[in-house]
Amino acid sequence: MGSGPDLPVLIAGGGIAGLTMALTCHQLGVPAIVLESVRTIAPLGVGINLQPNAIRELIDLGLGHELDDIGIEADEWALVARCGKDVWAEPRGRAAGYRWPQYSVHRGELQMLLHRTLVERAGPEAILTGHRVVGYRHSSDSVVAHVDTRDGDEIEVTGRLLLACDGLHSAARAQMHPDQPDPQWGGQVLWRGATLGPPVRSGAAFTLVGTLDQRFVHYPISSVDPATGLQLQNWIAELTVDPVDGFVASDWNREVDVETFLPAFQDWTFDWLDIPALVRGAPKVWEFPMVDRDPVERWVDQRVCLLGDAAHVMYPVGSNGASQAIVDARVMGACFLKHGVQPDALGAFESALLEPMSALVLRNRGHGPIGILGLVDERSGGDFDHIDDVIPRNEVEAFMARYKAAAGFAIDSLNNAGPTIAPGARVDQH
Ligand SMILES: Cc1cc2nc3c(=O)[nH]c(=O)nc-3n(C[C@H](O)[C@H](O)[C@H](O)COP(=O)(O)OP(=O)(O)OC[C@H]3O[C@@H](n4cnc5c(N)ncnc54)[C@H](O)[C@@H]3O)c2cc1C
Repeated sequence: MGSGPDLPVLIAGGGIAGLTMALTCHQLGVPAIVLESVRTIAPLGVGINLQPNAIRELIDLGLGHELDDIGIEADEWALVARCGKDVWAEPRGRAAGYRWPQYSVHRGELQMLLHRTLVERAGPEAILTGHRVVGYRHSSDSVVAHVDTRDGDEIEVTGRLLLACDGLHSAARAQMHPDQPDPQWGGQVLWRGATLGPPVRSGAAFTLVGTLDQRFVHYPISSVDPATGLQLQNWIAELTVDPVDGFVASDWNREVDVETFLPAFQDWTFDWLDIPALVRGAPKVWEFPMVDRDPVERWVDQRVCLLGDAAHVMYPVGSNGASQAIVDARVMGACFLKHGVQPDALGAFESALLEPMSALVLRNRGHGPIGILGLVDERSGGDFDHIDDVIPRNEVEAFMARYKAAAGFAIDSLNNAGPTIAPGARVDQH
């Protein structure tokens, strides 16, 4: 495969971070290969939200029209108390004045779009499926990835750099931090599904109902079918259980029966949303214990760097896991432009993001924006006539502004920032 500048950048993992990284490398003229453990990329998962900061990057990658086809432009974000009454509602995306929209999409559809685009632009050889990166070793001017293939072979692949985008159970992170504890679980369990149903609120709203211990998230991930009047409604039911009951498996693909959790939501029926009916209508339901990992003090080991969930997996309470995975890849591209495809670029990436992302992981553990619902429940005992008597509007506004600034989608700084990667930019290879 040659040496030095002729070697490709190795990307472990073909999820959201890895595929965006590969597309960014292609845009910059940097040879790259994705090593993905599954044999076939399939549209797994249910809904995710992509914030304007991530959409800007995907548009800069030339995917604006395709996003419009697979996603739905979110226009409202609402917090609703357990009694079904609004606590807070604010416009989102372009409705809030961002220059870029916010999209709700099916995670699998997004992954398929990124994969399809990569193959079209860089050729099928840009991704090797059935290749699981199990470790790495350093060499003088390169890095060697140890790979197990689905055919049972153990092979070595040499690259200029290894970008570990291998998610929650990252093998590269485990090697870099051999003493890291297991994923941290605070007792919350998520059940996820998608059901065809009539539009709720604006038909493009993200709604969070409940309290700190029991809540329900809902948003649509397709447009309304004119023939049926229905759209695909993504939902997440969430309960806090006693951690001693032990949910150890943290696999995004574990399928369960709705009766595992539905009794707890049995009377969550409002005139605008029938939660039990929505849950029962889902063809499949997945269970996921809400886990994250304690922040680490470094993401870089010589020519190896962690990105996306491998670097900073966080509780999915602020809709920023997938968005940040996309932003990470683009920031890495900008570091390549400034420092070359060299370890210095990895150091610059770490300096830019490790501290704010570690703080965000811990902030999300403290409930992120959902903290407001906890305050309302505590102060009102569950029901109220007027929300202003429970929590002053300026208290919620200040809380939300702090969260958005920490998560990198504060409106003014985003709108006024130049592109992460200028159009037409190419990396000088030598
Ligand atoms: C199957 C699946 C379903 C998900 N569903 C949802 C969902 O419904 N809602 C939600 O909010 N988030 C979901 N997520 C998580 C979400 O995609 C991530 O939090 C976020 O997008 C960050 O992306 P990432 O690329 O860092 O990690 P991921 O999207 O997790 O991607 C990691 C990729 O690396 C591959 N991989 C793992 N280990 C190795 C290895 N050792 N070598 C090579 N490849 C490896 C995985 O197969 C995967 O393709 C899901 C993740 C997965 C893998």
